This record gives sequence, C-alpha cells and structure tokens, in this order.
Amino acid sequence: MAGELRWDNQVVVVTGAGGGLGKAYATFFASRGANVVVNDLGGSFKGEGGGSAAADKVVDEIRAAGGKAVANYDSVENGEAIIQTAIQNYGRIDVLINNAGILRDISFKNMKDQDWDLIMKVHVIGAYKCARAAWPYFRKQKYGRVINTSSAAGLFGSFGQCNYSAAKLSQVGFTETLAKEGLKYNILCNVIAPIAASRMTATVMPPEVLDKLKPEWVVPLVAVLTHSSNETETGSIFEAGGGHMAKLRWERAKGTILRADDTFTPAALLKKWDGVSNFSEPSYPTGPANFLELLEDAQKLPANPP
Ligand code: NAD
Repeated sequence: MAGELRWDNQVVVVTGAGGGLGKAYATFFASRGANVVVNDLGGSFKGEGGGSAAADKVVDEIRAAGGKAVANYDSVENGEAIIQTAIQNYGRIDVLINNAGILRDISFKNMKDQDWDLIMKVHVIGAYKCARAAWPYFRKQKYGRVINTSSAAGLFGSFGQCNYSAAKLSQVGFTETLAKEGLKYNILCNVIAPIAASRMTATVMPPEVLDKLKPEWVVPLVAVLTHSSNETETGSIFEAGGGHMAKLRWERAKGTILRADDTFTPAALLKKWDGVSNFSEPSYPTGPANFLELLEDAQKLPANPP
C-alpha cells in the first residue's frame, strides 16, 4: 500500500531542498500531508554565494499545490537554527533528511585546504549539526527518522573527488552509530547513495542518461525508510537511482590466524596471505571480528613456520 503512505501531523526537515533531490523529497512529503521545512542556502554547486530564492521557490510551489512548508536559509553548519525553524513553526520534528551538498572536485595533487575544508563543513559538520539539534526532540518523543546522504564516490572512490569521497563515506559510520544509539528511542537512521539528474550531475552525464535518472525516483526509498510503518530497518546502506534500489553490506573474507608470538613475522603472514584475501567462504559482519574467540584459537596453533 505504498501509494497511501502519509505524514499527516508530522514535521519533516529537508536540507538542501532548493533543488535536485532535496526539492523532490520536500514536495513529496508536503503532498503526503507533512509540514515541511525547506532548507537551502541557495549557493552554487561549488558552495559559492547564497540567497533565499531557491528555498522560497520550492515553498511557493508546495503552497500553490495546497501543501504546508516554510523556508529556512541557514547553512547546514548552523543546524540548530534549521531545527528551530521546525520547532517554532510546527512545534516538533519527526523526520530529518540530511541532503544538502556541494562539490569541490579537483585531483588530490592540486587539492587546496579550502577545497577539503569546505566539503567537510557542509557534508560532515552539516549533517552532524542538524542531527545533533534534532536528537533531543527525537529522544523525548521516542520517535525519529533520519536519512543521511552518502555517494558512490564515498563507497567506491572517484577520481578527482577525494574530499567528497572522504566526507560521503563518513556518513556511513555516522549513520551506523546513530542507528545503534537511537534504536532504544525508536530513532531509525539509514544512509543512501543516490544517483539522480541534478545540477551536480548535469555536467558529467549525457542528457539521455540523465533523462532516466529523475530525482523523483529516489523518493520512494526515502519514503519507505522514513515512514512510521518502518519499525526495523535501521543502520542500513542503500543505493538508489533510476528505479534501481539495493542494500549494500560489508563482506569479510574467511581470514587467517597465525600464532601470535615471535614466530609471527611478515614472512609468516605472506605464506598465509591467500586466506586473508580469499572471499570463497565469506561472512557478512555487522561488527568487528570476535577477537576473544580468535585469540583462543591463535593460542592453540603451533609456532608459525619460518
Ligand atoms: P543539488 O546541487 O541539486 O542540491 C544540493 C542542494 O544543497 C542545493 O540546492 C544547494 O543550494 C544546497 N546546499 C549546499 N550547501 C548547503 C549548505 N551549506 N546549507 C544548506 N543547503 C546547502 O544536488 P543533488 O544532486 O540534488 O544532491 C543532493 C545530495 O545528494 C547531496 O548531498 C549530494 O552530495 C548527494 N548525491 C547526489 C548524487 C546525484 O547523482 N545527484 C549522487 C551521490 C550523492
């Protein structure tokens, strides 16, 4: 009954909602009964400039269609002000979509501190500040849904995007820990790696591909994850775009154990290297290897051959 999912009486904050994916989320939630905070700084995709027009335009569209929305023009670095816009206008917050983002693509060789720092500020500090400000409200009401935004660039690396890759993979660790800490309070947190036509991708993909990657086609996944009917899915990584959706997870090779004594040398490890990197008997961990058990096993082994 996905067509009937609604957010009546709920408050949804979408950061970076002046265009692209954020606009698609904001207009969707408003069309399904939510009160929406449309946050956008209104700058360029490189993080330059700013203004109120981008957020205002989306709010106007939502209202013209009969929905409820207010604008907020703060940078996500000032998450407290964004969440306060929700509290002051609607008295609560139920869903936070950390979506705002910029690019400062440049090869690592030519990267300047400013390119690195700005990406960290918007993606890492921005997502932190917004979630941090929403967290006490979520805990108090024992309800919250959070989506953080990663990227294929973060999960797999991408030429010319080491700043963005580092910032985007940070969203995975951030989400997985928030999911663990939030579970007891019914705060469910997931992270998505979207792919969609927007001004960010307009210069790197041909029009015929972009036509097949409408931002609206990432919305159903975000909707399902942030709806109250989702009571269990948390701490998960999803990729989504063009109608494709899939969960990703870690895979661990069977690994190898060497006796941990002075016979455990680099040469001894090299002899057992196949086991370290052989994925023919994989496991799918949700936490670190159980080192206490492994320690016991290691002690039972004979000395490593020279
Ligand atoms: P977009 O440029 O259309 O939207 C990003 C929005 O964030 C813009 O409207 C921008 O003004 C706003 N923004 C930037 N810095 C801000 C700040 N400091 N405070 C508040 N708002 C700010 O791009 P998009 O493609 O819709 O990207 C949305 C998110 O998805 C980003 O986090 C991006 O990194 C991520 N993403 C997009 C793709 C894709 O294929 N489009 C792929 C992977 C990840």
